[in-house]
Amino acid sequence: MGILDSFRLDGKTALVTGGGTGIGKAFAIALAEAGADVALIGRRSEPLEEVSKLIDSLGCKAMSISADVKSKTQVDDFTNQVVSEWGKLDIGVNNAGICFHTPTNQIEESEWDEVIDTNLKGPFLCAQAQARVMIPNSYGKIINTASMSGRIINRPQFQTHYNTSKAGLVHLTHSLATEWAEHGIYVNSISPGYIRTDMADTPEIAKMHPVWLRDTPVNRLGEVQDLTGALIFLASDASNFVIGHDLVIDGGFTAW
Ligand code: NDP
Repeated sequence: MGILDSFRLDGKTALVTGGGTGIGKAFAIALAEAGADVALIGRRSEPLEEVSKLIDSLGCKAMSISADVKSKTQVDDFTNQVVSEWGKLDIGVNNAGICFHTPTNQIEESEWDEVIDTNLKGPFLCAQAQARVMIPNSYGKIINTASMSGRIINRPQFQTHYNTSKAGLVHLTHSLATEWAEHGIYVNSISPGYIRTDMADTPEIAKMHPVWLRDTPVNRLGEVQDLTGALIFLASDASNFVIGHDLVIDGGFTAW
């Protein structure tokens, strides 16, 4: 097998949470370009349907399922639906996430819970459901979208709950990776820096861009395409000795 062949995903089935927009959309399309059939999960059905059509046009199968990653019942149901329709799940991309900018002394308990439940409990529930269907096949690739915010404290915005959730997700990745390696399941995470998506590009957030750029050695925000090569690496046989790794892709932000 040639080196480029080891990145191919023909015959694989994948699931991407938050697959209708931003980074998750780019991940879903990249997986299909590499040959995988892709199930898309999110709460709103419209963006999922649009990405579904793009995947169809690439000659791969797509499935879109409206669901909330905070709900164990819904997570178990959509995971089982993929397996019952496609026979197996090879790749789980736990990417859905939310971010609020709130000074810590003003964070309501409900906002804290919403962020932690979406960004930390959600990937836990998803990974657990994925491992349960992957273990019998002795094969699986699980990739969590964490963040450089799991390692550094962003500025000038305050986002304690977000930072905490992503730090937890990086450590969850390490824990799951060591526990499930013996079952042929590879768990890793990607930690983006500032990437130009809806989450990082509202007019209010754009005011912070000068500070973010000052702290980013390449002096630009990342584009979703800056992450897709890493995703395909971690989803494919090209990374078969990579376990429990958090791959930071941040234009050098954390390198200062
Ligand atoms: P988006 O807001 O475009 O994507 C978030 C996705 O998650 C949406 O498709 C949303 O769909 C889905 N989602 C949110 N909550 C839930 C839920 N409870 N259940 C199911 N799906 C949900 O932002 P990004 O693409 O930028 O973010 C993707 C990931 O990348 C996040 O985990 C984020 O933390 C991380 N990240 C982003 C960075 C950036 O600079 N953009 C930097 C570092 C990390 P819907 O609302 O329809 O449910």
